[in-house]
Amino acid sequence: MRSSIILVLILVSSCKQVKSDWIDRSLHEGLYNLDYSESFETYSINKNPKNIKNTIGNLEEAKVYFDAIFKEDLSFAVLFVDNQNWDKYAYAPPPGMPQSFYGGNILLGLGKSVMASRWEQTLSQFSGSEIDTLKFHFGDSIDLDLFFRDGLSLHELAHLYQFVKIDDGMQRRWLSELFANLCQVGAAKNLSNNSVYYQMDVFQQLLIDKELWGDVQYRSLQDFEEHYFDIMKLGRNYGWYQTQFYVIAKQLHEKYGDDVLQNFRNLLIAIDPKKVSEIEDDKLELLIEQYLGKEALNIINWDHDS
Ligand SMILES: [Zn+2]
Repeated sequence: MRSSIILVLILVSSCKQVKSDWIDRSLHEGLYNLDYSESFETYSINKNPKNIKNTIGNLEEAKVYFDAIFKEDLSFAVLFVDNQNWDKYAYAPPPGMPQSFYGGNILLGLGKSVMASRWEQTLSQFSGSEIDTLKFHFGDSIDLDLFFRDGLSLHELAHLYQFVKIDDGMQRRWLSELFANLCQVGAAKNLSNNSVYYQMDVFQQLLIDKELWGDVQYRSLQDFEEHYFDIMKLGRNYGWYQTQFYVIAKQLHEKYGDDVLQNFRNLLIAIDPKKVSEIEDDKLELLIEQYLGKEALNIINWDHDS
């Protein structure tokens, strides 16, 4: 009897340990522990990295917002790595593209990301008034990392609230990306400083209005599932999909408010492929309606098929 009580105690304490510390620390090798935040762990390839306090402040506020919505007290680590060392830590190029890992880590760039510098080189395609608008939101130097690092860091944090519940279980990749965009919109709208929201909104709207993604190879949701890694490698095509998801996410949040975040995560948990078998499109549509609301399907309606 006594030994079985001890066994139960050991089991309970070991379960607790796994839940409270899911962070994969093998990824922190070679990084300095910065201790820049009391809300989460921070690491960097440099001892004293510059210009990351603002990013950390936004993530602290986003954590408060997500914790309240998802009823969590999520532990996670944010890693800052420069372009030179990117490939040692990242699972995908280009250097500086924010990414999250199943083990509770977010990787962010230090210095100018490749995406920001590519887009900053194409600013000549914008008219005088568009440049003025960009300067208003991104400063006179038009620092697009305010979107590509700070804005997108909220998106990556959202994925961690998904991964902590369902790991890499994805019934559809596009649903997972739509969820992260939705959380990104909700968090940015709730930051004490609304500039992050306007930066992500104004920049992406300009890209859409001027069709600056160009002629992309893949356009359908089925393509997104079947050619995900090819699309990621074709950076522009991936950006095009994310911008479409952003527009839908914005409409979902306008229609349903913050409640839709929790409902959406519940949907992802309910369709976790580790628990249920593959769900056909028509059944999935019913579930989207059931979890998100009647109008959700109209908003999500995808009219870009190849
Ligand atoms: Zn994502």
